Amino acid sequence: MRKPLVAGNWKMNGSSAGNKLLLNEILAAANSFPSVDVALFPPAVYLHQVQQALKDSNVAWGTQNVSSYHQGAYTGEISATMLHDFDCKYVLIGHSERRCLYAELELDQLVLDRIIAEKYNMAISEGLIPIICIGESPEEHAVGKTEEVIGRHLDILIEHQGVKSLSQAVLAYEPVWAIGTGRSATPEWAQDVHSFMRERVAKYDVETAQGLRILYGGSVKGNNAAPLFSKPDVDGGLIGGASLDANEFVKICQSAQKQVLG
Ligand code: PEP
Repeated sequence: MRKPLVAGNWKMNGSSAGNKLLLNEILAAANSFPSVDVALFPPAVYLHQVQQALKDSNVAWGTQNVSSYHQGAYTGEISATMLHDFDCKYVLIGHSERRCLYAELELDQLVLDRIIAEKYNMAISEGLIPIICIGESPEEHAVGKTEEVIGRHLDILIEHQGVKSLSQAVLAYEPVWAIGTGRSATPEWAQDVHSFMRERVAKYDVETAQGLRILYGGSVKGNNAAPLFSKPDVDGGLIGGASLDANEFVKICQSAQKQVLG
């Protein structure tokens, strides 16, 4: 059985005082989800605070983005090697808010695919676990292009990096229409897409596909996590808004834990 992962993406939220409360509440409940991998993704300026709070716990951490370069004249960027100074384990790559909001919309799709592949490569070569986010836009969803879009992303990633690299990575299916909208995919929809993703990877390598964790992200809350996580190809969640509320986030982690216990 694949070990579930629940990842909390704080996006551009937080303050030193607020983080302290949130971290304390999550830590106080951490023994209620011992069989689940849990990771938090604060804004990079809070990495030190998160590292200090979580270093002796079963909760890991990472960043919301990483540069595809090692160092140099890249103002505002953060390199993979810098993340080691903060003992980061994971990094999010290709989150739709980065794809859509940060010039990346202006980029040719092929250039964007290349940048994401380079970031992925950088993370793997630096020993970080990339969580690659892919999902269809509302427009693509409306015209039934989900599998076409997801399949294309997966093929490009595998062709650039080799299928075996996915054994050191995590995939997240994040339909853009579900992110921050309160409109989660149904468990059945998520299962269908996750199963399609796993089969696509299996065309290249069955063993890698079977071991690959595929998270669902998009308006997961305490009250809808359990049915999503009950699906056989849903290996946990990437949680945005609800990761800022300790009660909600802990409930989500506990739903993943119940799934492990059966
Ligand atoms: C996300 O930021 O990856 C996300 C899934 O957000 P939300 O849970 O708020 O939809």
